[in-house]
Amino acid sequence: MAAPVGVLLRRLDGVRANGSGRWIARCPAHTDKHPSLSVAEGADGRVLVHDFGGCDLHAILAAVGMEAADLFPERPQDLNARERHELRVHARMAGWGTALSVLARESRIVIIAAAEVLAGCELNADDHARVALALQRIEDARVALAP
Ligand SMILES: [Zn+2]
Repeated sequence: MAAPVGVLLRRLDGVRANGSGRWIARCPAHTDKHPSLSVAEGADGRVLVHDFGGCDLHAILAAVGMEAADLFPERPQDLNARERHELRVHARMAGWGTALSVLARESRIVIIAAAEVLAGCELNADDHARVALALQRIEDARVALAP
């Protein structure tokens, strides 16, 4: 299996070495004229990512089609307790980002439907089904944010 740092670096632009086991690259999550993404390989092979432009890890990984788990070389069962905890925290933060975009999108559906009802319009069967789906997705996102 390829080292995780190699997988990430191949998906970034403007990569240059910045010392041993360290690189700087253009952040894929914002318009980054002067490379501000710091990438380093930890002693255990995990990838450490920090964007001095302020993008969060989820946004950076999403922009290159990777997940937090892809930053770790081992399978989760090979990790020690602290590493498993870090992996869970990364995964939870990624889940929050997804939940927030679901909330933003689905709440808009409910707001539009509520406005129609308040204006005296009746929802047709399709609208009804879409609102029911939106409510389910909002509930799922709510549970993800505050289990
Ligand atoms: Zn950025």
